[in-house]
Amino acid sequence: MCKVLTQSDNLSATLYQVDESRIPSFHVLTMSLKKYFLWKENKSHGTRMIDLTQQHFKDLAYYTQADIISYKNKIWIDSIETNLQCRTVSNNKETKMLGVITKIKNSGLILDKNNFLFGYNTNKSLDSRIMDYIHGSSPLFANIQKIMGGGSGEACRFCNSFNDSPVHQLLLCLEVQDTSYLQLKEELGGADPHSYLEEVLTKSSTHKAFIKRVEFLWGQNEALQDLSN
Ligand SMILES: [Zn+2]
Repeated sequence: MCKVLTQSDNLSATLYQVDESRIPSFHVLTMSLKKYFLWKENKSHGTRMIDLTQQHFKDLAYYTQADIISYKNKIWIDSIETNLQCRTVSNNKETKMLGVITKIKNSGLILDKNNFLFGYNTNKSLDSRIMDYIHGSSPLFANIQKIMGGGSGEACRFCNSFNDSPVHQLLLCLEVQDTSYLQLKEELGGADPHSYLEEVLTKSSTHKAFIKRVEFLWGQNEALQDLSN
């Protein structure tokens, strides 16, 4: 759409006509362009005030690759935020996730391949374990097993204490504190263990330690399962 506005007079004239027309599906298109201009001008409202025929907006339509990457990031973060806001009424986990997303948004962090959590040659099954320790709704945790009707109680399978959860297994359980535990703790610095999610999702320096920790805990889980079979 930006190129339509900048590359030829014929195309931009067609775009002005589309914008003036009363056809809703056309408006969706010009609206997306206007939203991009708002973002470029650091404004949150006012698409109605944008007149595409003004030279000012023609100038704004020239973009760099970095502009597009950061705009895509903004759209993505906004849509996750809206989605979570609709679902957080009674869900503690999603409230926590919303907090993380809002922090990412406010920090201006661009999520790209350089800080993508799954960029360390992990395989599919390890990726799904990593997700387990992010969303917490997994039979790896006793509270979820109980809800699913498969477990005998809410106790952690390693230490038998209650309140099993991702944070318990990752950072609090006394029975599974090996070198992966020490490394993850070191990477998290003095951060509160309960904010591990925020640290892991926003600081790429913690990724390797987090993945190693998940790999270790998963191995411990498998070993326990083999013993009970
Ligand atoms: Zn435990």
